Amino acid sequence: FQIQRLKDKLGTRKLPTAELLLRGVPALPVAGLEHGVRAIAPMLNVTRTWNAVSAVSLMRRGLALAGDYAARRHAFGARLAEKPLHRDTLAGLQAEQEGAFHLTFRVVELLGLEEVGEASEDELALLRLLTPVAKLTTGRQAVTVASEVLEAFGGAGYVEDTGLPVLLRDSQVLPIWEGTTNVLSLDLLRALGETGGPAPLARELERCLVDPGPGLVEPAAAARRSFDGALAWLAATADDRAALEAGARRFALALGRSLELALVVRHAAWAARHGDPAPAAAARRLAARLPASLDVFDPTDADLLLGG
Ligand SMILES: Cc1cc2nc3c(=O)[nH]c(=O)nc-3n(C[C@H](O)[C@H](O)[C@H](O)COP(=O)(O)OP(=O)(O)OC[C@H]3O[C@@H](n4cnc5c(N)ncnc54)[C@H](O)[C@@H]3O)c2cc1C
Repeated sequence: FQIQRLKDKLGTRKLPTAELLLRGVPALPVAGLEHGVRAIAPMLNVTRTWNAVSAVSLMRRGLALAGDYAARRHAFGARLAEKPLHRDTLAGLQAEQEGAFHLTFRVVELLGLEEVGEASEDELALLRLLTPVAKLTTGRQAVTVASEVLEAFGGAGYVEDTGLPVLLRDSQVLPIWEGTTNVLSLDLLRALGETGGPAPLARELERCLVDPGPGLVEPAAAARRSFDGALAWLAATADDRAALEAGARRFALALGRSLELALVVRHAAWAARHGDPAPAAAARRLAARLPASLDVFDPTDADLLLGG
């Protein structure tokens, strides 16, 4: 075989990517010569879950660095950590990270149950549905958070020798490899066909919101409103393939964000009972960002904007 070239990539440079030409190289079929997609699907579950774990860890690392910097950097007469607007900005990012964490590790839990043969039928269906949702939602969050982390360092965040730009460069691959946001949104539609609809997701939502406790009633209601709004769109659009595809990304992100919030509400209710009020603050932030219904655009809008 020949190495054509090493790719000159935006990020993930410690993990080289090459173009290899395999000509006349013997190959052994590892799973027969048919049903390739079916054979590779279990691997995709693992790599897409790994992608979400990477997204969460990248966000955590960036926020740890930004928090440390805020505690040391003096600007306009005080430490950044004492400036109300800087605190508010970092708090919003922390809430994003917590939402991503809970959704991701719910998928990790389901994947573990599947691997040891202990997942129920409902859990297997939930795993199938949540894997693309978690991958695409956290991939987009990681890019947003990484960009904000750089900004939280001011000009230093833009300078290579701080080591910070690598965070943004590395984050950008997360919504691309293992399936882009759009491709995974379409995969979610496929998964809904395979699992017979969104019932496993609805049961997961109810599991999380069954007993939010005082102080979490509003965030719980926001999660349910947004989730129901997304499902109402799905029901209304089911027979129009073009409209379904056009809205698939908004639908998938609405499900991802409402399930993140529901999982944070569940954790926050537990944490509140154990004397920790912090996760409830993350729930309130996430709730404030959730749309109650899905934006729907006339398909001719895209033609007008893109010119034909
Ligand atoms: C650093 C790096 C390492 C990689 N390593 C591997 C590897 O080890 N093994 C491997 O197999 N692959 C690898 N890939 C490939 C990667 O998985 C693909 O690049 C990725 O899935 C996107 O596919 P594509 O490049 O063909 O883009 P395309 O499929 O051409 O997509 C281009 C754009 O069109 C959109 N799009 C595509 N189809 C649709 C549709 N039907 N509806 C709406 N929008 C659509 C996409 O969302 C995207 O925005 C790697 C990629 C990178 C960047």
